Amino acid sequence: MEIACLDLEGVLVPEIWIEFAKKTGIEELKATTRDIPDYDVLMKQRLRILDQHGFKLQDIQDVIATLKPLDGAVEFVNWLRERFQVIILSDTFYEFSQPLMRQLGFPTLFCHRLITDETGRVIDYKLRQADPKRQSIRALQTIYYRTIAAGDSYNDTTMLAEADAGILFHAPQNVIDEFPQFPAVHTYEDLKKEFIKASNRELTL
Ligand SMILES: [Mg+2]
Repeated sequence: MEIACLDLEGVLVPEIWIEFAKKTGIEELKATTRDIPDYDVLMKQRLRILDQHGFKLQDIQDVIATLKPLDGAVEFVNWLRERFQVIILSDTFYEFSQPLMRQLGFPTLFCHRLITDETGRVIDYKLRQADPKRQSIRALQTIYYRTIAAGDSYNDTTMLAEADAGILFHAPQNVIDEFPQFPAVHTYEDLKKEFIKASNRELTL
């Protein structure tokens, strides 16, 4: 049996924090792990900024609901789900991704959680586990699933390496150069072909 594992942001939907920052005009929210490498420091800063601007979870979700999946993503997910069981392995939060997951038809998602107080203020976050993408692949392997994974960035590379087959999609050139062992494609049509190639079954486009 085979399972397809996909990263979410950059593969099916835009980078949620960046798009949220653009929509709200809050420049400081554009910081990423490239600017602040310590994820916990970065997240605490993001939550503080949301709070300063008076954003409660519902307001954030309302803004995120105006975002759309990437062009062709919905069709691609439907294509993939007809041929594989699909799990999205993401470092986003259930509460943020929900408006976008709705547009994708709510495929199975493993990600993190936000903690809110009784007024709906986001007060903290809870990571599901350390190295969650790679650990999910390992867990699937213990129940004898063959895994094919696709992602766009550094935080996907341990998942791609652990999977039976790994594919880079929409990756920046530095990631492609650093991980030449993974095929790198940039369109959903080519990504479909890579999944077919990586499968041990006779699949067609
Ligand atoms: Mg990504």
